[in-house]
Amino acid sequence: MEHKIAVIPGDGIGPEIIREARKVLDKICKKYNHTFIYEEILLGGASIDVYGVPLTEEAIKKAKSANAVLMGSIGGDASVSPWYKLEPSKRPEAGLLGIRKELNLFANLRPAYLYQELKESCPLRDEVIGEGFDMIIVRELTGGLYFGKRETLEENGIKTAIDTLSYNDKEIRRIAVKAFEIARKRKKNVISVDKANVLDSSRLWRSVVDEVAGEYPDVTLTHMLVDNCAMQLVRDPGQFDVILTENMFGDILSDEASMITGSIGMLPSASLNETKFGLYEPSHGSAPNIAGQNKANPIATILSAAMMLRYSFDMDEEAEDVERAIQKILADGYRTEDIMSEGCVPVGTEEMGNLIAQEI
Ligand code: NAD
Repeated sequence: MEHKIAVIPGDGIGPEIIREARKVLDKICKKYNHTFIYEEILLGGASIDVYGVPLTEEAIKKAKSANAVLMGSIGGDASVSPWYKLEPSKRPEAGLLGIRKELNLFANLRPAYLYQELKESCPLRDEVIGEGFDMIIVRELTGGLYFGKRETLEENGIKTAIDTLSYNDKEIRRIAVKAFEIARKRKKNVISVDKANVLDSSRLWRSVVDEVAGEYPDVTLTHMLVDNCAMQLVRDPGQFDVILTENMFGDILSDEASMITGSIGMLPSASLNETKFGLYEPSHGSAPNIAGQNKANPIATILSAAMMLRYSFDMDEEAEDVERAIQKILADGYRTEDIMSEGCVPVGTEEMGNLIAQEI
């Protein structure tokens, strides 16, 4: 199969971790007889340096013409980088928000998986961790409180700030469909998280999710209130498979879930639109403090590439191959600095990429 991949190396450690992810993808191509055509895009600080703006029309056009986008990370150290002397709409992060909007990426997927080999990094006790956990949070990304009407008023000396949380049935339906489709590729278990005991938007959420569930009789649906979910994540994380939730709840819960895995360098993410198209990137930032030192952990980016194989290209077997290779290299004791523990073999960014590619 042939696919066009727009690649955004970005800033800081971005180019180093993307190089390793491409190495792994090239190995997949060779083994499974696929062709990936890469087209590089400048975004963020790298684009500011060349064009004076963080996102160009040309970059948007290239991204839209690809089957998927694979991104490193963007941004610099705000206390020293000249990019942050520019007005906010011209800074690196504006480029990222801009491209997400242009590509209509309404579904954010963040897996939280605990590698048994990295159990020591997990802040939870052994009896809570049990057999480990493997969940994915499907968060609505373009609606709800962050995009609703807002204003701050002052009347008779009293200041009032208003934010609006609104969802329509179409917005809920499309994210619910994504979650159920993803559940079908996993353990077929969706927990939909809301605050239906208080919020109208959550009551609509619940009824639309129930409707969608009717179209997926092979998937089990449970509803859970968000306050309970926050508790359950640290009480019994093994119970979750797919968590479906709205924008703000997802923002908070996905950070909580990533924290219990113990390492930011291991967490991939995907943002999808209504088609198979998606933007895949690690959950972490551009780590300017270690950029160019061959210290960055490339695994989150390699796992993001595996998500691209699974969700944009329907290459489940190839994705599993990448994940298996990572597991094997960790089991063999190889570690970048961020996940290092006693008795393991320290490796740099490049060596970690080589080891994973060789294992495929
Ligand atoms: P960060 O995630 O870049 O770094 C936080 C800490 O984690 C640092 O100590 C860093 O060295 C470490 N770290 C991160 N990724 C690592 C990896 N792969 N391997 C080893 N260690 C790793 O967060 P920050 O320092 O708050 O932000 C730095 C820049 O990244 C800022 O400009 C910020 O705006 C940007 N950022 C970009 C994205 C994105 O591109 N989607 C996301 C978050 C932050």
